[in-house]
This record gives sequence, structure tokens and C-alpha cells, in this order.
Amino acid sequence: MKELFDKTYKDSKEEYLKMLEKKLKTNKKTFIVTANPEAFMLSEKNQEYRNMLLDKNTEIVADGIGLVKAGRILGYVIKERIPGIEIAEELLKYASEHQKKVYLFGSKPEVIEKMGNLIREKYSDAKLIGMQDGYVEEKDKVFKDIVKKEPDIILVALGMPKQEELIYKYLDKFKKGIFVGVGGSFDVISGTKKRAPKIFIKTNTEWLYRIVKEPKRIKRFYDNNIKFIFKIYKLKKSK
Ligand code: UDP
Repeated sequence: MKELFDKTYKDSKEEYLKMLEKKLKTNKKTFIVTANPEAFMLSEKNQEYRNMLLDKNTEIVADGIGLVKAGRILGYVIKERIPGIEIAEELLKYASEHQKKVYLFGSKPEVIEKMGNLIREKYSDAKLIGMQDGYVEEKDKVFKDIVKKEPDIILVALGMPKQEELIYKYLDKFKKGIFVGVGGSFDVISGTKKRAPKIFIKTNTEWLYRIVKEPKRIKRFYDNNIKFIFKIYKLKKSK
């Protein structure tokens, strides 16, 4: 797990977003994994997922506060969390400012439709070249269409690890593009679901808000985060 902390982005959100804008302007192909403890835990049992995270073309940013705190325990200073949803919103803003081509894939049909409307209204200079909800059977077919259309920004909202696995499978076929798996971000950006109130975001307890709102997440939380904490302390001891 230490190798993953080694390559996780450590500087501030502001610096990271500035860098992303530069990459977008220069057409530098970039694959971002907005990771949380669940992603790091998955890498322990899924070799392919681990290879994907460790690939030199994959950038890891700490979406979850759990990674920031665990990093500190192990002696890695990750300045702050960089939420995937903020990366997604910032990329849409850049897309509009620089008239870049955007493809959105994932979430429910009514959500993706709202995303389309939002882009036309709020990010009106972005070129929305493709949109597809995430409940189609043939997801590979969608990706083949994405490859053909050569977008500059590709946001994939299918939940982890599916979204990252699909992006990674096709990454070689693209010459440019900023790729991000954005989980449930479209639900929030489109206004279908509410993001946590500011106080939760400020106090880094957005995860708690999500559990309270959606109690079915408890098992998933326990399976990943509690076991993750034990793992980190074990790692610290062995140092
Ligand atoms: N989703 C989808 N197709 C599927 C399963 C899920 O498009 O077959 C979407 C779902 O509608 C939601 C997102 O993927 O918008 C997953 O959200 P969640 O908050 O569970 O993401 P995570 O916690 O994994 O980041």
C-alpha cells in the first residue's frame, strides 16, 4: 500500500487544478483516479486494479479524508483532500472557457439528461459531443464511440471500480483527453441529489453525511474503512 501513498498527489487542490488546466490546454493525456480507502483496499485483493493504480500514466488524488489522515500516520504529507466532484466541476468550467470537447458517460437516464441541460446553460461554450447514461448493456460499445469522437474531457460516472476499469481498458486508444471516474458526481452536479451541507465539507465529515443519508452504505463503509484503519496501524508498526 505504501507505493500507492508514494504516488498520491500531495500538494494543494489549487495547485492540482491549475496543473489540470495546463494539461487540458496542451492536450496532455491524463487519467485521474480520485481514490478513497476503498480503492486502496481493493488494490490488495485485485491485482489488475492494483496494476492500474500503479501504472505510470495513472494519477492518484486523495478524494477521501481517510487517505489524507492515513498518509499522515505513515509519514506522508498530503496537504488536503481533492474531491472528485470538484475536479469534475472545474473541468466543465475549463471546457467552457477553452471551448473544449466533453463526453459524459454514466448515471441514470434522467440524471444525464439534466447534465446535458446544465452544460448548455451554465457551461455553454463547452462542446458537448456525446452523452450516454450508465445503464446500457454494452458499455464497451460506448467507449468505442468515445474513442472515435476524440473528446478533450471524459467524465465517467459508473461507480468504482467499473468506471476506472473501463477507462483503463481503452486508454491506449486515445491520443489526448483528461479522463476521470467521478462516481456519483453527476447526481449532485445535476441537482438530483444534494451534496453535504458546507459544515460537513469543512469539517471533513462528508462521508458521515453520506452514510446518514444512505444507510445502505454502512456495510461498505465498515468493510473498507474500518479494516483500512487496522491495516494502516499495522503498517506503521512494521516501519
Ligand atoms: N451507475 C451507473 N450504472 C450502473 C451503476 C451505477 O451509471 O450500472 C451510476 C449511478 O447512477 C451513480 C454512480 O454510478 O450515479 C455511482 O454512484 P456512487 O455514489 O455509488 O459512486 P461511488 O460511491 O462508487 O463513487
